[in-house]
Amino acid sequence: MKYKLKNFFIDGLKAQNLAKRYNTPIYCYSFKKLKENIDEFKRNFSYFKPLICFSVKANSNKILLKEMRRLGLGADVVSIGELMKALKSGIRPNKIVFSGVGKTMHELNYAITKKILLINTESKSEIFSIEKIAKSKKIKVDIGIRLNPNTDANTLSQISTGKKENKFGISEKMFLNLVNYVKKSKYLNLKCLSVHIGSQILNVKPYEKMLKVLDKIIKKTHYHFEYVDLGGGMGINYENNNKNLDLRKYSSSIKRFIKKHNSKIIFEPGRSIIGNTGVLISRIIYIKDGYKKNFIILDAAMNDLIRPALYNSKHRIIPAKKNNTKSKKTYEFVGPICESTDKFLTVKKFQKLNEKDLIIICDVGAYGMSLSSNYNLRPKAIELLIKNSKVQIINKRQNLKDLI
Ligand SMILES: *Cc1c(COP(=O)(O)O)cnc(C)c1O
Repeated sequence: MKYKLKNFFIDGLKAQNLAKRYNTPIYCYSFKKLKENIDEFKRNFSYFKPLICFSVKANSNKILLKEMRRLGLGADVVSIGELMKALKSGIRPNKIVFSGVGKTMHELNYAITKKILLINTESKSEIFSIEKIAKSKKIKVDIGIRLNPNTDANTLSQISTGKKENKFGISEKMFLNLVNYVKKSKYLNLKCLSVHIGSQILNVKPYEKMLKVLDKIIKKTHYHFEYVDLGGGMGINYENNNKNLDLRKYSSSIKRFIKKHNSKIIFEPGRSIIGNTGVLISRIIYIKDGYKKNFIILDAAMNDLIRPALYNSKHRIIPAKKNNTKSKKTYEFVGPICESTDKFLTVKKFQKLNEKDLIIICDVGAYGMSLSSNYNLRPKAIELLIKNSKVQIINKRQNLKDLI
């Protein structure tokens, strides 16, 4: 993804041509970037060869899941829908883990029938539910227990999951009780200790603290966990300012941890695998002079990309064609939806824009399309994958007829 002679290209294809051919807004993904991310992830952790279970909630496009499966990834799912889609994408059950605080009997039953690698349980009641199903089937089910390590991930409060006030995981005291309970169960096989402390983590310290907590608690259990599932949460650089999570440092800490505990490592990355592989191409409908700023009204909106409205997150916006000018007005990029939170970014000194110009919203591969909706009865965008300079429609633009 780069500029060539002022025009933005996605792996050899000009954004403007894609917009002409497929209309806008477009979610467009780069296969090259996806492969690079996965290769780099594997390289950083090559010492212990973790099982990498892609967090399907970050992006559940079936073609992308198939590509990830071919590149060796498994899946981390949080609902029966995601589990079915992961299986449909050809991901083998022994590479699938199932997380989430509210799995229903129906969902648990399905997961057990499919013999997935692990159900990561998040409460005593859920463990009892699984035991009940296993007993009725006269089988032993492999489970993990998700610990709430009470570790501050130093990320946005909305995407923090490992503090004691969060609904996720099980407190240390309860964890120790449950380990003892499951050890004795005829129908449960305790295979894994799992954690996931939050998302968009850019500092290695919370992970190091988390590993210390795990170290302590594993010693207290006197139990050997075949797997330790460290979750995901690795942050990406949305602002392009070279602030990156030091994965090599994280890797060294895990190395030391493994030397003590000799467990296989599972990761559940979402954002760090898929986040920077996608852009949202959008066309300017109108430009409107406000009191203090100019509103750039796009044909993409919060229904397509809700992260700015939901988490106040900032996605870089760049022009599809550079023109070497600078606007004196402040631009606010907004969508057409009838909500004041339907805005993407406020920028000073952007290049001068005109109605019908194309812009690119960057790094939308994770929690972009998967969090999209039909609010204001807007059909969902088309999704394209560029692989070896060829376009593949990996999800058709939703039809108005389907909505009405
Ligand atoms: C959301 C989630 C992930 C993925 O988080 P990223 O920040 O996208 O890496 C992993 N594990 C669990 C349990 C999750 O809920």
